[in-house]
Amino acid sequence: MKAVLAEFLVAVLLTMLATLAGWLAAGERGATLLLFGAVTFFFLRQLWMVLRLLHWAACPLGTPTPSASGAWGAVFEALHRRARLARAEREQATSELARFRRAAEALPDGVVILDGHRAIEWMNVQAEACFGLKASVDTGSRITHLLREPEFLEYLDSSDHRGVPLELQTQRNPGRSLQVQAAPFAAGRTLLLVRDVTQLQKLATMRRDFVANVSHELKTPLTVTLGFVETALEVLHDTPPQEIAQYLQTAAEQAQRMQQLIDDLLTLSSLETDSPPPLEDPIDAAELLADVCREVQALSAGRHRITLENDGPCGLLGSGRELRSAFANLAGNAVRYSPQGGEILLSWSGAGEGGARFSVSDHGIGISREHLPRLTERFYRVDRGRSREAGGTGLGLAIVKHVLERHQAALQIESEPGQGSRFSAVFPSHRVQS
Ligand code: ADP
Repeated sequence: MKAVLAEFLVAVLLTMLATLAGWLAAGERGATLLLFGAVTFFFLRQLWMVLRLLHWAACPLGTPTPSASGAWGAVFEALHRRARLARAEREQATSELARFRRAAEALPDGVVILDGHRAIEWMNVQAEACFGLKASVDTGSRITHLLREPEFLEYLDSSDHRGVPLELQTQRNPGRSLQVQAAPFAAGRTLLLVRDVTQLQKLATMRRDFVANVSHELKTPLTVTLGFVETALEVLHDTPPQEIAQYLQTAAEQAQRMQQLIDDLLTLSSLETDSPPPLEDPIDAAELLADVCREVQALSAGRHRITLENDGPCGLLGSGRELRSAFANLAGNAVRYSPQGGEILLSWSGAGEGGARFSVSDHGIGISREHLPRLTERFYRVDRGRSREAGGTGLGLAIVKHVLERHQAALQIESEPGQGSRFSAVFPSHRVQS
């Protein structure tokens, strides 16, 4: 303000002095001429400064303001201060936005911001993966043009979607189940949260199937048991004791089946919930193999020729109880799925890179190729009737798979229908004791 006043006073003073000098030198004409010259000079100076200001305003942001003295210097200085302030505010806003984006990128869920016309303003990589979109291409496009499922459009249109998620399957990402949630916020914008729930849904289906399977598996022997016990009770007084004993014998066999099933279920559940076995517990391989061989000979009751070959390392590290159960399951299957007189070979040997291999080979019924990938699923059987007849629960190989996984070992299956099968458990070197 002071600078403007000073410049104004200087201009008036100089004009007056020029007029006086002109009048003294050349009278009235000289005074008029110099007055006109001084006014023109000041006018042109203002014009020049305005042009410099306009030129600066057209330059890119951050260009320093022009330098000048007097009132214009003060104006440029004030503009310079404001520009500096604006730049600092802009930088702060940019860094806050970048921080927000980094935070949104780190979210495990997908996030999409839609403007008032449902055009995509921004999305994170998780949202790109879930919806099958590409930020570089699809930003700016209306999401309703990209995801055209009617239930999605209906969900966005409904005003009461706050808090209620939508289960969505989109053609842009086939085979995946998504859970989408919309939340409106400032200026008609919408925040879309999306999560891939395919795995969760699979687990829920598996759980439902499992409960249905267990109920079914228990129901059959329970019905048979109940039937025989009720019949035995009805005919107790007018039936010979041998016949009653037969009824009770059948009921007892069915009860044993249920007991075996429950034992296997408990084994599976403890394998799933316990932490993996430690690396420090040594197991004597020869002792373990002898135990398994004895068990399987008892099961065979002399109907098969069972041989044991041991040229493997002397020990394993892990849980003896779990490994005995897994090896016995493999050997037991060889007995159950081989005809009378069939040969069964249990072998323990070294494997590549310091590992070890336990194999059970039989010359039994074999398994066709299409069943092999599913054999370790719970309750999966190639021939349900045959498995039941043989006293199987359908859980043996599921138990084997869990035990081996807990020991970082792999299950290998080779089989030919009508020729026989070879099931091998291959252990890594850190589980082997030489
Ligand atoms: P199960 O109690 O029915 O034997 P498992 O989980 O042990 O259940 O095995 C699953 C299925 O794999 C069996 O029902 C059977 O069809 C097949 N299987 C397993 N081992 C053998 C084998 N050595 N020879 C032929 N089939 C086998």
